[in-house]
Amino acid sequence: MKEQRAKLFYTPKNGYDRVDDQQRRGIERIGEDYKAFLNHGRTERCAVQYTVQLAENAGFVPYRESAPLTAGDRVYIVNRSKSVILAVIGKKSLSEGIRIAVAHIDCPRLDLKPMPLNEETGELCMLRTHYYGGVKKYQWTAIPLALSGVVALRDGSVVDIEIGTHPGDPVLTITDLLPHLGKDQMAKTAAEAVTGENLRVLCGSVPAGDPKEKDRVRLAVLTLLNDMYGIVEEDFLSAELSVIPAFPACDVGLDRALVGGYGQDDRSCAFAGLDAILSLQNPEKTALCVMADKEEIGSVGSTGMQSGFFDAFVDSLCRAQSVPLTVCLGNSECLSADVSAAYDPLYADAYEKANSAFVNYGMSLVKYVGSRGKSGSNDANAEYLGRLRRAFDDAGVIWHGCELGKVDQGGGGTVAGFMANRNIETVDIGVPVLSMHSPFEIVSKLDVYMTSRAISAFYRMAGDENEDTL
Ligand code: MN
Ligand code: MN
Repeated sequence: MKEQRAKLFYTPKNGYDRVDDQQRRGIERIGEDYKAFLNHGRTERCAVQYTVQLAENAGFVPYRESAPLTAGDRVYIVNRSKSVILAVIGKKSLSEGIRIAVAHIDCPRLDLKPMPLNEETGELCMLRTHYYGGVKKYQWTAIPLALSGVVALRDGSVVDIEIGTHPGDPVLTITDLLPHLGKDQMAKTAAEAVTGENLRVLCGSVPAGDPKEKDRVRLAVLTLLNDMYGIVEEDFLSAELSVIPAFPACDVGLDRALVGGYGQDDRSCAFAGLDAILSLQNPEKTALCVMADKEEIGSVGSTGMQSGFFDAFVDSLCRAQSVPLTVCLGNSECLSADVSAAYDPLYADAYEKANSAFVNYGMSLVKYVGSRGKSGSNDANAEYLGRLRRAFDDAGVIWHGCELGKVDQGGGGTVAGFMANRNIETVDIGVPVLSMHSPFEIVSKLDVYMTSRAISAFYRMAGDENEDTL
C-alpha cells in the first residue's frame, strides 16, 4: 500500500528535503546575485539600467534592425528606459515560434503628484503623492523612504534624482499618529486609517528668508533641489519621481534562506528570467526575456505588455527571415513569470491549503489567476501544461501547482492574458511571496533558483512538440 500511495498521491514537499549539494551551492550563489539585482534595480528605470549592464557583460549587444542576425547572437532592446527585451537567436526558423519569459519590473509605490511640494503648518515641507498599484496605505508610514526617478527639462535634458538609497544619504518618511492620540484613527478600518491624501512625505523643516514671509521651508527645499539638480518647481510637471523604501534587501531568518526587501513582485521573476537567459547558449528556438513595465496598473501605456512595442520587435526579427509575424506568434510559447501568494499561517483563513503556494516548495505553476469565476485570467491549456511538466521534471526543477487563494477572497491579474491574446500559448509561473505588495516582501532563495531553472528548462525544451496552429 505504501508503494500505491507513493505512486498515486501528489504531495508537494519542501524543496530543502529534495535538493542536492550542487543545488544548495546554486541557491547560495543566486541569493547573493539576486540581492544585488534588487538593490540596483529599485525602480523599473534602475532595473533596466542594471539589466543592460549585466547583459552587455554576458555578450548582448543593442539590437539594430539593419544588422543581420544568426543563430547564437545575443541582442537587447530598451523601450523608453522603462522596459527591456533580451533575445538569443535560435537555430530554427522563427516560423517555428519563439520562447518568451515575461516578468514585470514595476512595483507598487508612491509617485509624486504633478505639484508635490506643500508647506504644512509648523514649517514642515511635505511631498504630495499618488500611490501606484495596490498598496495597504498604513504600511507606508513611519519607515525610511527614498526618492528615485527623473525630471525632464524643457531643453530636452533629463535629470536623474536619487535620494536616500546610498549609504549616508538622508531619507524621507511619512509620519503616523502616536497611539496616545490614536483613539479615532484606531477605530477606523485598516483601509481608512491612513488616507491617500495623507501619504505625504516629510522632506524638510528648516525655513529660509524673512520670517514675515510665507512658504519659507518650501523655498528652502526648492533652493536645495535647485543647487543639487538645477530644477525649479515647474519642472515637477514633466517628472517621474517615485517614493520607495530606502532600506536594502537582506537575508531573513537565522538560516538565511529567505530574502526580505522591496519590489520582489515581480523583480524576483525578472531576475530569474535574466539569470536564465544570460546563461543560455545556442538554443534551438529563439528565446526572449521580457522585463515589462506598468503591470501593476493593468499593463497599460507604451511600456506595458499591451503596447505594440513587443509585436514591433518580434515583427522586426521575423521580417529579417521573411516570416509572417502571425505564424511566429501562433507557434510561440510564453511563461508569464509573476509571483504567487505564498501560504501565510498567520492568515490561514484567506488561503485554501491544498491549492496554495508554499515558501521553499520551489517554483509555483498557476493555471489561472483572475477573480471570482476566473474573470480576467488566462486559463492555460492543459496540453501546454502537460508539456511543461515534462520539461520541468526532466530538468530536475522543484515546482508545485497552486492558485492565488480562496475563491471568494479576491483575485489578481498578470500579463498572461495579454500574451495569450496574441495567440501565444501562455501560463503563469513564479516565485511564492509573503507580505506581497508591502514595503518588505519575503521570498525564498530556493524558489528564485528553481524559477530560474524552470525558465532555463523552458528555453531548452525539445522543439518538435507543437501541434499545428494557425
Ligand atoms: Mn506581479
Ligand atoms: Mn503585483
